[in-house]
Amino acid sequence: MSEVRTRIAPSPTGDPHVGTAYIALFNLCYARQHGGKFILRIEDTDQVRSNQKSEDDILAALSWLGMNWDEGPDKGGDFGPYRQSERSDIYKTHVEKLLDEGHAFHCFCSSERLSELRKQQMTEKKPLGYDGHCLNLSDSDRADKLQQNIPPVIRMKVPETGSCVVKDMLRDDVTIDWQQIDMQVLMKSDGLPTYHLANVVDDHLMQITHVIRGEEWINSAPKHLLLYQYFGWEPPVLCHMPLLRNADKSKLSKRKNPASVGYYQRMGYLPEAVCNFLGMMGWSMPDEQEMFSLEEMISNFDINRVSLGGPVFDAEKLDWLNGRYLREALSDDEFIQRFSQWAFQPDMLQAIVPLIKQRVERFSDIAPLAAFFFSGMPTIDEQSFEHKQLKHEDAKKILQFIAWRIEGLDAWHRDRIETALMLLAESMGIKIRDFLFPLFIAIAGSSVSTSVIDSIAVLGLDITRARLRHAIAILGGVSKKQLKNLEKEYAALEQKSGQS
Ligand code: GLU
Repeated sequence: MSEVRTRIAPSPTGDPHVGTAYIALFNLCYARQHGGKFILRIEDTDQVRSNQKSEDDILAALSWLGMNWDEGPDKGGDFGPYRQSERSDIYKTHVEKLLDEGHAFHCFCSSERLSELRKQQMTEKKPLGYDGHCLNLSDSDRADKLQQNIPPVIRMKVPETGSCVVKDMLRDDVTIDWQQIDMQVLMKSDGLPTYHLANVVDDHLMQITHVIRGEEWINSAPKHLLLYQYFGWEPPVLCHMPLLRNADKSKLSKRKNPASVGYYQRMGYLPEAVCNFLGMMGWSMPDEQEMFSLEEMISNFDINRVSLGGPVFDAEKLDWLNGRYLREALSDDEFIQRFSQWAFQPDMLQAIVPLIKQRVERFSDIAPLAAFFFSGMPTIDEQSFEHKQLKHEDAKKILQFIAWRIEGLDAWHRDRIETALMLLAESMGIKIRDFLFPLFIAIAGSSVSTSVIDSIAVLGLDITRARLRHAIAILGGVSKKQLKNLEKEYAALEQKSGQS
């Protein structure tokens, strides 16, 4: 049998997600267990949303967790480049081949036509998807349109009848009718591939033998299998892992649970505990032992023991496990060393010192002033929000609106945060001092503190969001009904500030 090769293929469009780390872990274990290779490929075909910072953060997060890859954009390897944006020519050649062989076609439909079509399919309660309008254009029609500079996309052809059988390591065969499968765009009008084309071409060229990925991709499998067939390639073995869930069984979302690896790092979890915890998601050691190292997981790994019932990312369980690591796995010396590494990270200190330096007379003044940068949730209660101008309901609303506003920021920069919050205060008609008061309490636990905007810029979105959520809960939380009203009010504000 050929060498086992697995991969993690993140899109660098945001904070490194624990879901990515979870899938990476299972790919890593599978490859290592078979003496194979684990590859990291960056899927940055979405040029608008992809960014270098996110890529760097993803690599740093996986490294922090000890999930080492053998080939990747930073390491090289025999199958590079490992960043899709550097492989455009490869995709062009492949899409040409599909066109030549009649497996794909140019589509000139305008976005207006497509949205009209969608609307119509929705009213008629028909399945959504492309209707094949450009499927049978004659050569001369096509040449005409190209001459008129109408930018085409390239779509794949899909059989009109019959069905596709998807084989998966963890489930019985899944049969999906071709009629349900859309004529997927493979190449956009800017000449860049979509995920589906790039993913299949790369998995093949990088000789990936096993594709272990999240369950949300299972519906794309027929398109991928069809592409393998069109190219005349052997498809890899597929394995769709159950998705991580919040306690209420909904899909793990950052609104309900901090979901970025950076959050856990910042909060002082040990990477080996986080890795162990991710290993418990849908999987267990044969002896059901709960504390195990990555090496132990690899030597006992058996992908068939993954259970499909949605694993719950239970933050309390992670706390418990991390506590055990701190108490049981580290000697005092190791504890000192690991704690110092965490507390005295140069990046963090460099960001904090300018904020506190002007305010101290002795080093002993630092700890009380800077403590909130290093803690979890501040110790606050309802009384902490007492304010002459603001009722608790107002404070809650401000905090909720701030949470929504900062979530929408496309970059986490001090000035961007400041402008966004100033505009929000203005549109809510609240004086900035009053507006910032609940934020100070939520973030620093007190209104006497370093600038709250500087502070949240340093703390990062995840910690900020977690503290906002904590403060809102202290203020009594938001019921479903309240949430609806707040959402309405917020949307109206957004519209207002958009127009001004
Ligand atoms: N880029 C995809 C993602 O972000 C990869 C999915 C796959 O593994 O095929 O999840």
